Amino acid sequence: MKNKLSRRSFLQNSLKAGLAVAASNTVLTAWANTPTNKKWEPDYTQQKLPYAFNALEPIIDAATMEIHYTKHAAAYAKNFNEAFKEEYKGAALPNFIELMPQINNYSAKFRNNGGGHYNHELFWKTLQPATENNLPSQKLMQAIEKHFGSFENFKTNITKQAMQRFGSGWAWLIIKKDAKELTVTSTPNQDNPLMPYAEVQGYPLLGIDVWEHAYYLKYQNKRADYIENWFKVINWNFVEDRFVNAI
Ligand code: MN
Repeated sequence: MKNKLSRRSFLQNSLKAGLAVAASNTVLTAWANTPTNKKWEPDYTQQKLPYAFNALEPIIDAATMEIHYTKHAAAYAKNFNEAFKEEYKGAALPNFIELMPQINNYSAKFRNNGGGHYNHELFWKTLQPATENNLPSQKLMQAIEKHFGSFENFKTNITKQAMQRFGSGWAWLIIKKDAKELTVTSTPNQDNPLMPYAEVQGYPLLGIDVWEHAYYLKYQNKRADYIENWFKVINWNFVEDRFVNAI
């Protein structure tokens, strides 16, 4: 409850709802695989970008970053907060991990912008300025090698997911729901693997935005080049933290 809307909603709802505890329990039992010791999940409001717009040059150009963050992502955050205010009737404020599996109870505006906000907040955090030999560290690397055979195989598989996603969407590295194993998948539009609609459900560790707005200014139609270059700017320490706290 860090933002104003959250506090206000919570207070209003608490005052009018005598069954606050029962209602919040329904929310909290949404998904048994909810990470219990997580360090970071998106807040409802758009957070400050953790680096400058030009920090990911030349992989992701400053103009793309600025438009992507200040226009596209900002709109998802704003519209999600609007939809949440209109539609959410629960007594306690759920976090995203609790809310996403139940997103089918809400409108298309709620789903599209809730997903859009969550996905982008995660996306910014998983990026950092390009480094040589950018690879996951030991624990995550071992898990990737175990589940995919090799890092190269993982790279091929997630690239395939990102290339085969027709139109707009995301490709993901996730911990599969109820399996505690890594896999890759993709989702259309602004859906994500936490949602009940996802072909493969799970906890997202890393995602790549393959909407044209994420790459078109620099890469035009060359989605493959954008994906190949994206591997150079992945913040593997952040992804590993997510992994370690979720297993
Ligand atoms: Mn985007």
